Amino acid sequence: MDRRHLANCSSTNHSLFFLVVVVVLLLHSCLLLPNPLVAVAEDSSSAIISRFQQYLQIDTAQPNPGYHEAADFLISQAKSIGLEFQSIEFVDGKPLVLLKWAGSQPTLPSILLYSHTDVVPVEQHKWAYPAFGAHLDSHGNIYARGSQDMKCVGMQYLEAVRRLKSSGFQPIRSIYLAFAPDEEIGGHDGAEKFADSDIFRTMNVGIVLDEGLASPSEKYRPFFAERSPWWLVIKAFGAPGHGAKLYDNSAMENLLKSIESVRRFRASQFDLVKSGLKEEGEVISVNMVFLKAGTPSPTGFVMNLQPSEAEAGFDIRVPPTADPESLERRIAEEWAPVSRNMTYQLGQFKQKATVYDSFGRPLLTKTDNSNPWWALLEEAVKKANGKLGKPEIFPAATDSRYFRLKGLPSIGFSPMANTPILLHDHNEFLNRAQYLKGIDIYESIIKVYTSYVVQASNEGTKDEL
Ligand SMILES: [Zn+2]
Repeated sequence: MDRRHLANCSSTNHSLFFLVVVVVLLLHSCLLLPNPLVAVAEDSSSAIISRFQQYLQIDTAQPNPGYHEAADFLISQAKSIGLEFQSIEFVDGKPLVLLKWAGSQPTLPSILLYSHTDVVPVEQHKWAYPAFGAHLDSHGNIYARGSQDMKCVGMQYLEAVRRLKSSGFQPIRSIYLAFAPDEEIGGHDGAEKFADSDIFRTMNVGIVLDEGLASPSEKYRPFFAERSPWWLVIKAFGAPGHGAKLYDNSAMENLLKSIESVRRFRASQFDLVKSGLKEEGEVISVNMVFLKAGTPSPTGFVMNLQPSEAEAGFDIRVPPTADPESLERRIAEEWAPVSRNMTYQLGQFKQKATVYDSFGRPLLTKTDNSNPWWALLEEAVKKANGKLGKPEIFPAATDSRYFRLKGLPSIGFSPMANTPILLHDHNEFLNRAQYLKGIDIYESIIKVYTSYVVQASNEGTKDEL
C-alpha cells in the first residue's frame, strides 16, 4: 500500500502546491493504515476460527460418524503444534486420538483434557444453515452440530496448547488430549474401553476435564457429578375380562395405580426444582417413556376386551447424592408391588448404572478442600477473567462417569457463557467471541494445572512452588 502511494506520488509532476497536497494526503493515509500488530492478531484469530470450522465441517453424526476423517484432521493439528500423537482403535473403525505434551516431571500424575468426536444426528430441514457448514453469520455466531457439544472444547484445548507451546511455556506435569468416539451412544467402545486400558493406566492421570453445558448467564457452569440412568419397566398382570365388566385387579387397573404413584413422586421432585430448593440435577427425575397394553385388531385394538397384561417404561435419573436403596424399596413396595400382581425389571435395555465408584464411594468429584483440582480450576478461571458458577450435577450422562468410576476426579466444564443451551437442538451455534474467550480460559487452566506440584510430591519438590 505504501509503495503504491509513493509510485503515484513520484509520477505526479506538478507544482510544489500539488506536491504538498499529495504529501499531506500520503501522511493522512499512512495514519489510517492498520497497525501491523492488530492485523496479525486479527489474522490469527480468523485462522483459529477457520480451524474450528474445519473440524465442525467433518460430519461425525451418529450412526455413521466420519471418525477417520476427524482423526486425520486432529493428527494434522497435532503435527503442526508438535505434539506426540497416536490413534488407538479399541474397536475397529472407532479411533481414539491421543495426544501428549510431556512434562518436565513425567512421574507426577498427568492432566487429561478429554472430548468426544461424535455428534448427534440432525433434522436438516429444521436448521437455518447446513448443520455441517459451520456458517459464520453477521453476529459472529457459528452454526454447526457439535459447535457446543463438544467440538468447541476439543479445538479450544488444541488452540490453548498451540499458544502455550509457541510462547515457550514448559509444563511440569504431562498433559494428554483425548478425542474419543461414541459418547453419544453410551461410550462403551470409546471412554469405557479407554479407561479400562493399559494405555490409560500408564498415563497416570490425576485429573480429567470433560464436557459441561453452555450457560445463559455470565457464569460458566462446572459439573462435579452426573445422574445415573435407571431404566425401569413395570408389568402388571390380571384376569382378562369383558370390556363391560367392573372387577378388581385387572392388569390395566393395577398398572394405573402404579402410574399414579410414580406421578405423585415425580411431582414431589419437580416441586423441589420449581420452588428453587434444588437444582435439576439434584433431584430424581422420572418420566414415562412407553405404555404397552391391549389386544391388537386389524383396525387398531379390540375394544370390548380388558387385557391380561399391561406394561410401562420409565427413564429414571438418580443423582449420586440420593439414597439408591430407598428408591429400590419404593419401586418394590409402591410402584410394582407383588401384592398387586406386578413385576419389574430395572435396566431391561441397559445396565442399571451404579451411583458408587469402584471403591464404594458416591460417584462424584469433591469440590471442597480435599480436591486441590477444584480450587485450582477456580483460580485459573478467575485469572483469565472468567466467572465460575457453583458446581452442579449434570442432568444427563457423560463420559466422565467412566473416569469417576475409577476413583478419578473429573470436572465437566465447557466455557460458554452468555450462550443459550442448544446441545442436541436445531440451529446449535456458538459465538466466535465466546469461543476465543474459552481458549484464554483453557490456556490459564493448563498453566495452573500443569504447574501444580504440591499434592503429588510429599517431600522434596516443595521448593518448586
Ligand atoms: Zn457431549
